[in-house]
Amino acid sequence: MRKQIAAANWKMNLTLEQGEQLLDGILSKPHSLKADQQAVFAVPFPYLLMAQQKLAGKQNVFVAAQNCYSKKNGAYTGEVSVEMLQSIGITYVVLGHSERREYFQESNRLLADKVNICIDYSITPIFCCGEPLEIREANTQNEYVAKQLEESLYHLSAEQLQKIVIAYEPIWAIGTGKTASSAQAQEMHAFIRTQLAGKYGAAIADTISILYGGSVKAANAVDIFSQADVDGGLVGGASLIVDEFVAIINALK
Ligand code: PEP
Repeated sequence: MRKQIAAANWKMNLTLEQGEQLLDGILSKPHSLKADQQAVFAVPFPYLLMAQQKLAGKQNVFVAAQNCYSKKNGAYTGEVSVEMLQSIGITYVVLGHSERREYFQESNRLLADKVNICIDYSITPIFCCGEPLEIREANTQNEYVAKQLEESLYHLSAEQLQKIVIAYEPIWAIGTGKTASSAQAQEMHAFIRTQLAGKYGAAIADTISILYGGSVKAANAVDIFSQADVDGGLVGGASLIVDEFVAIINALK
C-alpha cells in the first residue's frame, strides 16, 4: 500500500507567530490520519525547530524543509545542508519546486545531486516535476516530465528510488487557481508510474507515492485524490488556511 500524503508548502509566507497559530489551529481540529497516511509541513528554515516541537509525539505528522544544498558542508554562505537538517530530526525535503527551478535556475543535474545527498542522509526528497503552460499547449508534457525524471532520478538504484516521493505539479496550475482536472492529473500520474515501471519494474513503480500539486483546495481535493494513481497532494495557498488544510488532510483516500 502506497503512502498517501497531504503536504503543505508554506513557501516564503507567514511570521513565526502566524506559523505557530496556523499549526496550533490545524492540530486543534479533528483529523483522521490512517496508518498509511501522513501530513507533512514544509515550513521556512527559521521555523523548522518550532514546527518540530509542536508536532513532537504526533502520529503520522512530519516537518519538511523546502530546499537544501547539494554539498555536505563547507564555504557555501547562506545555504543549508542535509546534515544540518538531519541533526534537527527533519525527514523530508521538497526538491525542485518549479519556483526554485525558475527563480534560482535549479537544473535537473543539480537536482540529481540534491536527491543523492538527501538519500545519503536518510531524508526523503519530495521531488517536484511538471510542465509550463506552453509545453502543455504543445501537448509535449509527457516528454518534458519524462526528461525531468530521467535526468534527476534514473541514476538511482531501485532501492534508492523507493526512498523518493514524487510531486507532479503542472506549473500552469500553481498558485493560479487553475487546477488540472482530475482526469488530467490521473493521466500524467499514470504516465509517470508507467515510466518508472519501464525503468524499475511495475512492482517498484507501484510503491512510489505520486502527489498532485496545483491549486488543490478543500473543494477539489476529494475528486483529485480519488484518482487511482494520485497519492495525495502538495498544497501551497490552501495550506495557509486552517479549515482548508484540515479538509485536505481528511480528503486523503
Ligand atoms: C505549491 O506550492 O507547490 C502549489 C501547488 O501551490 P498552490 O497550491 O498554491 O497552487
